[in-house]
Amino acid sequence: MNREIDTALVKTASRCNLDCSYCYVYNLGDDGWKSQPRRMTDAVMSAVIDQLGALSQSQTRPLSVVLHGGEPLLLGIGATERFVEGLKSSLRADAGLHVQTNGVLLTDDFIDVFDRYDVGISISLDGPAELHDRNRRDRHGDGSHERVVAGVARLVAHSARDRLFSGLLAVVDPTSDPIKVYEFLKATGAPSFDFLYRDGNHDVLPPGKSQTDSTEYGDWMVRLLDHYLADLTPPRIRVLDDLIRLILGGRGRKEGLGQEEYGILVIDTDGRITRNDTLKVAYPGADRFHLERSIVNRDLLNQLTGPEFDEYFALQYPTSPTCEACPELTVCGGGMPAHRWSTRNGYSNPTVFCSDQLTLISAIRGRLSVVAKEMTDTRNRRDNQLSA
Ligand code: SF4
Repeated sequence: MNREIDTALVKTASRCNLDCSYCYVYNLGDDGWKSQPRRMTDAVMSAVIDQLGALSQSQTRPLSVVLHGGEPLLLGIGATERFVEGLKSSLRADAGLHVQTNGVLLTDDFIDVFDRYDVGISISLDGPAELHDRNRRDRHGDGSHERVVAGVARLVAHSARDRLFSGLLAVVDPTSDPIKVYEFLKATGAPSFDFLYRDGNHDVLPPGKSQTDSTEYGDWMVRLLDHYLADLTPPRIRVLDDLIRLILGGRGRKEGLGQEEYGILVIDTDGRITRNDTLKVAYPGADRFHLERSIVNRDLLNQLTGPEFDEYFALQYPTSPTCEACPELTVCGGGMPAHRWSTRNGYSNPTVFCSDQLTLISAIRGRLSVVAKEMTDTRNRRDNQLSA
């Protein structure tokens, strides 16, 4: 059976102009990037255009294609324009085109290219300078904050900002002040933010987490939640909006939450097809298929099948007895597979952020029940007045 793919992450450049301390591509032990060409060649780009076009035309679900890295803008402006022009013409009309960038190289010329081909732009920014520059430094050790904020400002000043600016992506440091982070990100003019936890698993705890059952990340998110709910002009926060939607019985839109099945494919700079590259967080090489697959063979549709592909999709579903019995499974979903990993049990654990997620979900349920009670009281008061 052919699986449907929601997102293809295309590594247009395998290197990065930053050296972020927490990056799962370069700094968590996997050095697969060293064997990759620095940039995607025209021949590989041509195969990607052709094959992702065929894939999007064959599926029922719309396909989202994300230029990713390393730092995708290292591909250069000319090649980037040729690539997105080709993708735009081959992909089905409902397909999405996006770029995830660190923002340092985001010039007006790049933004104009993304405007011409309708490419949504998401920028990584962790918050105020002292926080962002703790981890997001370049290869000379210099902080990148000033350059990233300048890139964000160029995008905010662009006439097509409302269509192009998808949002900011921040990595949580649980020792920081979530309110300062929120206010800083909001002040940039970004329409939305999303938050990721620092990577880790049951063998190597995420930075800032003292024990498996401690709640530093959950507590940070609850403070963020309360500030968000009190804001009369809030931006969107994808992870919180998804959790609220899931608690209310709706569907999530984010991998690692809820029980929706996501098909994520990564295409390396040399055209090799891999599993979700966040799996590198589990152990080096965890993102590789044993049976080599490559887009340059130009038979992508035949490569999205077989036992190894089924096994990759099955990884999304938690297999730990704790998760299977958990009353919050439909909301939490067991977390990202990489965060469930331990050498002892493989992926058959709750996410290492289990206690954090339970803390956050419980807080959201509590806030929603207060709102529901206020609505019921208001309705009862109005009914009583009408009948008096
Ligand atoms: S990770 Fe924890 S909260 Fe999430 S489903 Fe599993 S047991 Fe429940």
